[in-house]
Amino acid sequence: MKLDPIRPVETMGPYESCWCRSGKKYKWCHFRREQQKPVNIFEIEARMIAELRDGYCSHPDPSADPCSATITKAHTVQKKGGLAAIAEAGHVLTVKPSMKEMIETDGNPRPRKVGVNNASVFPGFCSKHDTMLFKPIEGKTLSLTKDTAFLFSYRAIAYERFAKEAQLRNTDIQREADCGHPFWKQAMIQTHLAAIIDGIKIGMRDMDLWKGQLDERLLSGERQDFHYVAVRFDQVLPVVSCGAFHPEFDLQGRPLQQLGRESVDFDHITLTVTTFESQTIVVFGWIGTDNGPAKALADSFAAVEDTRKADALVRLLFIHTDNLFLRPSWWESLPEASRKALNEMTRSGTTMRSRSGGEMADDATSFLAAGVVEVVSG
Ligand SMILES: [Zn+2]
Ligand SMILES: [Zn+2]
Repeated sequence: MKLDPIRPVETMGPYESCWCRSGKKYKWCHFRREQQKPVNIFEIEARMIAELRDGYCSHPDPSADPCSATITKAHTVQKKGGLAAIAEAGHVLTVKPSMKEMIETDGNPRPRKVGVNNASVFPGFCSKHDTMLFKPIEGKTLSLTKDTAFLFSYRAIAYERFAKEAQLRNTDIQREADCGHPFWKQAMIQTHLAAIIDGIKIGMRDMDLWKGQLDERLLSGERQDFHYVAVRFDQVLPVVSCGAFHPEFDLQGRPLQQLGRESVDFDHITLTVTTFESQTIVVFGWIGTDNGPAKALADSFAAVEDTRKADALVRLLFIHTDNLFLRPSWWESLPEASRKALNEMTRSGTTMRSRSGGEMADDATSFLAAGVVEVVSG
């Protein structure tokens, strides 16, 4: 994708397409923007959150079996099993910061409390397809097989695609953040936003490709080139999560692939952490070769000594996903140094902190202790 920087201009013809690329005519967009009523950033955030609640069904082919009328308030990890197992007084902690905390903490927010009902909500399927598709992984018990692993991966990708798409919708709201500001600041805000939009569009294209691959296999039942590694712990770990990412370093800190912005030819991996029958299960899933970066990451997790696996998992989660929920008392009980280290990992891969092998590798810090009862792959 060719990235073409925007060129802010102070005045334009009223019916020319506005320089900010909103698609609106100048007259209805940046004309006299410095005189427009400033938008409160909390208002913008509230509108963005509302956008995330605006759901639709992600089923790839509802023609044979049409959607039901209601979009379900589904969760990326089961509310009854996964979230309930780590909740305390109906609450868990989320690592996703709010705008208010970003400001109050000078860009260094801490995990915050969120009600179980609002944690990991994902209005990405109609209730019929949600029930139909995920029934095998929504029961009280779970057998770790290629088919159940596939469903965890499918839900993770559907969620990631939904989140990216909502992010893109959100940028329309963010375009108004420069109302009431002088031209130089409008230019700065819109240039920054344009770069963000380019990034989201690349991510979106990536997600479409990736979900498309899983859609095909969902409909055909073909699982030949889908692979997984799953681990069952001997107890409930204080974390649940669901997400997908590009593996960059393995759990020994070795580089797996270099990410560039132009190509989408990168291995992806999904990671789901939830609980069945008082035992946490962890499922890695990916499509593609049996020797690529995704496989290497999953193998590196399997290779971690069993007594260190839970710690490796905690590092991996804080580094790679913000769709991560924590048991409050566990977080509070960690030494301040551990909390600080984990907090910093949540900024990994952002402009605040680049990724490194060092953060993935085991530095002997222990966040929790647990044993492993089952490791399966295929
Ligand atoms: Zn404009
Ligand atoms: Zn549907």
